Amino acid sequence: MIFVTGGAGFIGSNFVLDWLAQSDEGVLNYDKLTYAGNLNNLKSLQGDARHIFVRGDICDQAGVLALLQQHQPRAIVHFAAESHVDRSILGPGEFIQTNINGTFSLLEAARAYWSALPDDEKAAFRFLHVSTDEVYGTLGPDDAPFSETTPYAPNSPYSASKAASDHLVRSYHHTYGLPTLTTNCSNNYGPYHFPEKLIPLIISNALGGKPLPIYGDGQQVRDWLYVGDHCAAIRRVLAEGRLGETYNVGGWNEMANLDAVHTLCDMLDKLRPKAAGSYRDQITFVKDRPGHDRRYAIDARKLERELGWKPAETFQSGIAKTVQWYLDNQAWVQDVQSGAYAKWVETNYQNR
Ligand code: NAD
Repeated sequence: MIFVTGGAGFIGSNFVLDWLAQSDEGVLNYDKLTYAGNLNNLKSLQGDARHIFVRGDICDQAGVLALLQQHQPRAIVHFAAESHVDRSILGPGEFIQTNINGTFSLLEAARAYWSALPDDEKAAFRFLHVSTDEVYGTLGPDDAPFSETTPYAPNSPYSASKAASDHLVRSYHHTYGLPTLTTNCSNNYGPYHFPEKLIPLIISNALGGKPLPIYGDGQQVRDWLYVGDHCAAIRRVLAEGRLGETYNVGGWNEMANLDAVHTLCDMLDKLRPKAAGSYRDQITFVKDRPGHDRRYAIDARKLERELGWKPAETFQSGIAKTVQWYLDNQAWVQDVQSGAYAKWVETNYQNR
């Protein structure tokens, strides 16, 4: 079995669903269920004995160690994090606690568990840390894309906390020999994306007839990757990645935010036309985010060269799937937005 942290979040839940669709190997899904964790994402696994869910905090070192010893996973895939840049600006404390202290605590539990394994299992064990391209900071218009050797220069409390966690993971490999792997990925989009992030926010505001907020001039450039492609990259790195290495994961889809929003509006115009006009009419420019990075671009050639991974989706094909998913799953969005899910967690997980 594998031990997944943060498997009720956006990417984690896509990963768990994808993993169990392709393998009979079970998943122990360990998640604190913060506002961003949503067990509705995993509804299709109800009654599936291969999926065990445990609500818990990665900062609880003793609790994590006990679970590792009880379930004997052959790998840890670490998604759990506070992940929203705007929230990190308003309140960085949680980001330091979960992303830095939590990763440290998880590494300590992993090290204690791993050191006691028999030699063959010790050699086969993997700790895969899922991280972001935001640790590299920002690029000028003519700079080469981020590679694995680009110096770290994080600009937000979120990216700084992820950078610190990447360094801790690296140090556990070099100091203790823990068999670690790190992936640094660009912006993901796809099903089950919490509607505070750009793409799901735009889709749900567009459908709700609300303004589509664009920070500053909308010319911030991001690389976009369909979440299913990210999950495939993680599986590949877990299976074949070289120990102690980091792998950049990207979609070769550099695009200004405003262009991404135009693409979304055009897709919605086609799939769910308005009575009059275009969804583009709802675009509204708002005050820019402080310290907003101007451009991210990822050079993912190492992953392609060494492990043969390439994204399967283009931005157009991935966005078409995503918009269709949101149109088909409006109840999921409404549940999250109305707070119904948060209330359910409070009722069902009291005193656990
Ligand atoms: P998310 O915010 O949707 O999900 C995070 C999950 O972690 C939630 O289920 C939450 O309940 C859980 N969690 C938070 N704190 C916890 C704690 N202390 N203990 C246990 N669980 C906890 O995030 P996401 O977008 O799915 O991102 C997952 C990972 O991928 C993060 O590490 C993020 O930095 C990284 N990443 C995200 C993107 C992106 O575009 N979303 C891109 C690259 C890398």
